[in-house]
Parts: sequence; C-alpha cells; structure tokens
Amino acid sequence: MDFKEKIRVIEDFPQPGVRFKDITTLLKDGKAFQAAIDEMARQVAGKEIDVVVGPEARGFVVGTPLAYALGVGFVPVRKSGKLPGETVEAGYSLEYGKDKLAVHKDAIDPGQKVLIVDDLLATGGTINATLDLVRQLKGEVVGAAFFIELTYLHGRDKLKDVDLFTLIQY
Ligand code: IMP
Repeated sequence: MDFKEKIRVIEDFPQPGVRFKDITTLLKDGKAFQAAIDEMARQVAGKEIDVVVGPEARGFVVGTPLAYALGVGFVPVRKSGKLPGETVEAGYSLEYGKDKLAVHKDAIDPGQKVLIVDDLLATGGTINATLDLVRQLKGEVVGAAFFIELTYLHGRDKLKDVDLFTLIQY
C-alpha cells in the first residue's frame, strides 16, 4: 500500500516553515490503518519484545495496536504531571518547543526487552527522552519503530546504538 498517499501534508503548522505530516487522514481509513500496523509488526517480527513503550499522544495511537498485534504489554509515557503514580522524568527539546516526559517507576522491570514506538521521528528529541526513561528503569531497548521518519532532521544520528524501523521516509 502507498501510505504516503494517505498522509496529508499541512504547510506552516504549527509554525511557519514546518510541513506537518498529518496522519489523521490515514487513521480514519480502516484498511490503511490496519495495513500500517501489520507492516510495522512484520518489521519487528524477529525481535524478542516484552513491552512496547510509547509517548503521548500519537505514540499511543500507533503503539497500542502494535502491542496488541505483538501480544505484549503497553507502557504510556506522558508529559510531566499527568501520571498518577510515582514517576521518573526526562527533559527534552522538540522540533518546536521544550518539555519533560514521565513514566511510572514500576512500569518496566529491570532487564525487560523494550520496543519504543512513536508515529514520527523528527529531530529525535522525544525518542531520546523516552530512551532515557527506559534506561533509568533498567529496561533493555531492543529497537525503536516509527511510522514516519523525517530524514532531513537527522533524528537517526541521535540514535546510533538503537535498531531503527521506519515505514515511510520524507
Ligand atoms: P522529535 O522529538 O523532534 O523527533 O519530534 C517527534 C515528535 O513530534 C513526535 O511525537 C511527533 O508526534 C511530533 N511531530 C513532529 N513533527 C510532526 C509532524 O510533522 N507530524 C506529526 N507529528 C509530528
């Protein structure tokens, strides 16, 4: 399937000069959504995975169906202050802004094999902070999977020691 055909590109959102890849047009198409998740599951099929970890909000949209397809658990990473239990935190800067991410302290057991999932790899800031959280909890990162990679932002360069899986590239 040509996934790019299903993604809408919106110019100058959320700020001038950004070409925002809007996946809502793919998500509302049941066949395309299913094909995308199935394809991501196929890409990571050779990996031993105990748990999928995904940052809010679109990391939930891609990460939970992928975890379900793989038959493993899902751990949500949220903006600081949103999770009810005890957390660890990591700071990061985005393609447009700065923030802190958090995960429950007991969400990952030491040594568990973790696949990190998000919809899109841009500068790599979000995924680096997510990696930091997983490593604080002594999880073993076995890979990171994205639906989209913006190659011109070189996020991949920040993740040299991680196996990367991306479905489509711009
Ligand atoms: P990074 O931290 O710079 O790699 O940015 C990735 C994060 O920003 C992901 O969580 C994405 O959901 C979001 N993001 C950045 N650019 C886009 C875009 O063009 N479309 C959709 N999400 C984006």
